[in-house]
Amino acid sequence: MHKKLQELKTRLLEVNNLKSASAVLAWDQATYMPPGGTPARARQLATLERLAHEKFIDPALGRLLDELLPYGESLPYDSDEASLIRITRRDYERATRIPPSFRAEFTSHMAESYQAWTQARPANDFAAVRPYLEKGLELCRQFAEFYPGYEHIADPWIHEWDYGLKASTVRSLFADLREQLVPLVQTIADRPLADDSCLHQHFPEALQWDFGLDVARRFGYDMQRGRQDKVPHPFTTNFSIGDVRITTEVKEDDVSWALFGTLHEAGHGLYEQGIHPALEGTPLAVGTSAGMHESQSRLWENVVGRNQRFWQFFYPRLQAVFPAQLGAVSLDTFYRAINRVERTLIRGSADEVTYNLHIMLRFDLELALLEGSLAVKDLPEAWRTRFQADFGLIPTDDRDGVMQDSHWYADGIGGQFQGYTLGNILSAQFYEAALQAHPEILDEMAQGEFGTLHGWLRERIYQHGRKFTANELVERVIGGPMRIEPYLHYLRNKYGELYRIQ
Ligand code: ZN
Repeated sequence: MHKKLQELKTRLLEVNNLKSASAVLAWDQATYMPPGGTPARARQLATLERLAHEKFIDPALGRLLDELLPYGESLPYDSDEASLIRITRRDYERATRIPPSFRAEFTSHMAESYQAWTQARPANDFAAVRPYLEKGLELCRQFAEFYPGYEHIADPWIHEWDYGLKASTVRSLFADLREQLVPLVQTIADRPLADDSCLHQHFPEALQWDFGLDVARRFGYDMQRGRQDKVPHPFTTNFSIGDVRITTEVKEDDVSWALFGTLHEAGHGLYEQGIHPALEGTPLAVGTSAGMHESQSRLWENVVGRNQRFWQFFYPRLQAVFPAQLGAVSLDTFYRAINRVERTLIRGSADEVTYNLHIMLRFDLELALLEGSLAVKDLPEAWRTRFQADFGLIPTDDRDGVMQDSHWYADGIGGQFQGYTLGNILSAQFYEAALQAHPEILDEMAQGEFGTLHGWLRERIYQHGRKFTANELVERVIGGPMRIEPYLHYLRNKYGELYRIQ
């Protein structure tokens, strides 16, 4: 059996090498490639994607998995080998339904579509991306047809990002959350708005850059196995456990944008860097789902990064970096500014309370697009109508409306956005459990130390990579399923105090 397992690993390593090479090309496209490189880059990515897919769906690999099945089942469920056989089999069954030509076409289209978006957004030109979005939607609908028998056409996409979840489950979860969130947002909106003018001064880019990276390092993000570069829409990518890259966007007139963006991506980076080295080169060497990934980015960005204790340590340091801008601003004023709750246009900078409303809006529009009840040409108008209903605001342009996120243009429609809200919910649950086990985390945070929290998360979540599904992992970490109550409790506690709500 060892020989067969070795053969499986060798084959999977080759697939992994091709995928990692393609991730390097995609990273380069987003960071340094000049726009003129787009057509060739789309072809190169398509070729690599097709080759990786062909290698993976090779019937010989399927036979190997069949032969290894009894061996895998004889091992403990949570062993690396049993997990590798189990998860690879699941991936194989899903992947064999997709023709390599479709994979190639999808990848090449998304590379071109992303590039079109990077130019159309600053120009506020939805007409320029509309044909790309229409074709992208068509491809996403075709993708679903490779998995007949779905309950909702979005389900096959949701499975790609959050395996085991269905549109109907997400809908009812969102409905429950919405029922509690909308009144909370309203109660806060009735209070005086916190003053955040201290955040909107001139903050030179290089100083912001260094400060953000310093915090990321203190979290435990390892610069020997990572780096940060500039992009128009931040993301994290990895080419191996030893090379996990984050990206950021800096705005010189808003000190919070790059900082919280960096902390968000550092959270993703900690997860990927924390995967056990024994899983290197296998399909298990990534985070297990979008929701689990966002639970980490949102935990480090918000639960930690917008925490009062955190700023007890970091605020004097930030003041020392920007004495002219912040020297006369008190910690309390700054803390209220970075936690200002306000219905605004942009998801990326939305506060913790209104954030999920942005996600729900996108999720519902995605379902409508995939169902065919909403056409791409009507999307900007549908966005404005829904935005007004949920936020009482109408976006003045498409740049800050339907074109504000790269996701639909870079990755397709459906499957991704729910991960952010799942992540928010889980971040509170994990944090609560970590604090119960280690109350000293709060004091450490006030000293700029994060070793206990990072170690707890690495031990319980990061090291396992994709060995367990998100549901299995939550069960193992919390001893129960995902629940919205700890998250609501967290929000009510923190914002109740901030906004003096009984
Ligand atoms: Zn994220």
